[in-house]
Amino acid sequence: IFVVFEGGDGVGKSTQVRLLAEHLAAGGHEVVTTFEPGATALGALLRGVLLHGDAGDVGARTEALLYAADKAEHLHELVRPALARGAVVVCDRYVDSMVAYQGAGRVLNPDEVEGVARWATEDLRPDLTVLLDLEAAEGLGTLTEPDRLESAGLDLHDRARAFFLDLAARDPDRYLVLPARRSREELAATIATRVDRLLSD
Ligand code: C5P
Repeated sequence: IFVVFEGGDGVGKSTQVRLLAEHLAAGGHEVVTTFEPGATALGALLRGVLLHGDAGDVGARTEALLYAADKAEHLHELVRPALARGAVVVCDRYVDSMVAYQGAGRVLNPDEVEGVARWATEDLRPDLTVLLDLEAAEGLGTLTEPDRLESAGLDLHDRARAFFLDLAARDPDRYLVLPARRSREELAATIATRVDRLLSD
């Protein structure tokens, strides 16, 4: 199964990815934890352009296409093969991040951005998306070294947050929306219960 974590910056996604992976591994499952952007060799180069400005300030459409390329390669090299051999794949960010940031955030047309992201990922949808929800200002406040996007202005992050919630509302069965403010143990337990249920279905 394919489990994705989404949400703003600084909400604790990577901690929950790790805790879920530990839980699943303890239960005897093969788990592959991964992230976007940057989990492949190509992705690492793209991450430099996207987050550290290695190629200067690229345009919004260029940025969207580079995120799409990162996804396509990630799926091809890592996610599909892992799912094919029966592993549980737990991914930090996926299509929703692209729609929320490059679409709603950068003010491109979110439906068009979603179309590009779905094409890049052959429309592979997660079995479950955990959305850790927090006010943008609060999440960003926890970061010590903001990258290119994290310093792009609060408006963008507010729009992205609202968009994540919209996406979840459109497909409630496939989302688990949790207030990121809860304790990490409480969040981890709720997420583990939901994923265990998916695995036993
Ligand atoms: O911490 P993480 O690796 O998730 O940070 C990735 C950065 O890229 C964050 O600033 C996030 O807001 C941004 N991002 C983006 N569009 C995506 C995925 C991430 O702008 N599709």
